[in-house]
Amino acid sequence: MRQPANFLDTTHDAALQSWVASANLPDTDFPIQNLPLGVFRRAGSQEAFRPGAAIGDQVVDLPAACAAGVLAPDVAVSLAGCERGELNAFMALGRAARVALRLALSEGLREGSVHQPALQACLVPQAEADYAVPCRINDYTDFYTGIHHATTVGKLFRPDNPLLPNYKWVPIGSHGRSSSIGVSGQQFLRPKGQTKGSDEAAPVLRPSQRLDYELELGVFVGQGNALGEPIPMAEAEDHAFGLVLLNDWSARDLQAWEYQPLGPFLAKNFASTISPWIVTMEALAPFRAPFARPEGDPQPLPYLDSPGNRENGNIDVSLEVLIQTQAMREAGLPPQQLSKSSYRDAYWTVAQMITHHAVNGCNLQSGDLLGSGTQSGAEPEQAGSLLELTAGGKQVLRLANGETRTFLQDGDAITLRGHCERSGFRRIGFGDCQGQVLAARD
Ligand code: CA
Repeated sequence: MRQPANFLDTTHDAALQSWVASANLPDTDFPIQNLPLGVFRRAGSQEAFRPGAAIGDQVVDLPAACAAGVLAPDVAVSLAGCERGELNAFMALGRAARVALRLALSEGLREGSVHQPALQACLVPQAEADYAVPCRINDYTDFYTGIHHATTVGKLFRPDNPLLPNYKWVPIGSHGRSSSIGVSGQQFLRPKGQTKGSDEAAPVLRPSQRLDYELELGVFVGQGNALGEPIPMAEAEDHAFGLVLLNDWSARDLQAWEYQPLGPFLAKNFASTISPWIVTMEALAPFRAPFARPEGDPQPLPYLDSPGNRENGNIDVSLEVLIQTQAMREAGLPPQQLSKSSYRDAYWTVAQMITHHAVNGCNLQSGDLLGSGTQSGAEPEQAGSLLELTAGGKQVLRLANGETRTFLQDGDAITLRGHCERSGFRRIGFGDCQGQVLAARD
């Protein structure tokens, strides 16, 4: 029997408190109602990366918890195959395994749990942990579900024809590059590539001068599908494991020169950064919202429609972008907010991305990453990229310390944050997704 996406159980109870005191602080991203999964090791060590769950400012070492006998045998077995720091084997097991692990962790970490002494010994402070990409990402697909982003950017590239006629019918996407995906803390060199100014007769190979971020969510695929077997909408979320924040760094000058006719290539494959913790679909259950098309827009074709998607296909995630320049860092200034938006404004849902991806028989595999596309709101200040915030580099952005930006400069660090809030439920968050651009190689 399939549960609706907003199905709740005891693990969502807002009154639950943990014996890990930091998990009970009102502004923590990781209360006991969240329990996101990732892979970690002690910072600076040569230990193997291994699965962990975030609780407050701590990580539960899951193999250690299994070895201590705290997790039931079936839960421990479900984590077998993940010892080398890749969650794929667990992700492939689907929802039932996730629910069992979530319940076991929730019960073990609650105030008064008999497992407290044993689990206490399995905690590692997050401040003393390093993270890796949580699974082997075989394929990365980047969708384009932010209609406000698509419209604003379309205006810059094609003033007369901003939103192409296919946009409201087909979830647009492109195949990305998984080898350059890194976890929060990623540093990368400013990419070089061919660019051609409007006043130049020929393109030149040089470092990008229009380097940008993109505020996105990433969907990790849990169970895959066999080649040739589409995924109907009613089953689509059975294949979703959870969400991360995703910064799809983009070199706009490379993009402008290369993107026609086949779309972005070197403009986007030099780095992509994700947050280390996967917030599971179960943790997101209280924050589901109806999916509806604006008045006058075409309804999705029947294969992209389902009662479940209409009732709660959307997920209400508040998103935020912050910048910390080299000068801010040196002056001890905290990151400054650039914009805020919400995943509720996406034009296509997680289920629609999955179903559309497989409608031609394409096989998704456990650990595949689907980017949501840049999530901008309707208002100019809700833009999820500098391309939009500066109107293609024409409007200078003034920072609080007096610096200005059109696009990113060397040393700039961008942090994405996301959280879910709803009356009657505990606030949950995604943790930081931070990346930094370094000077191009000579
Ligand atoms: Ca993108």
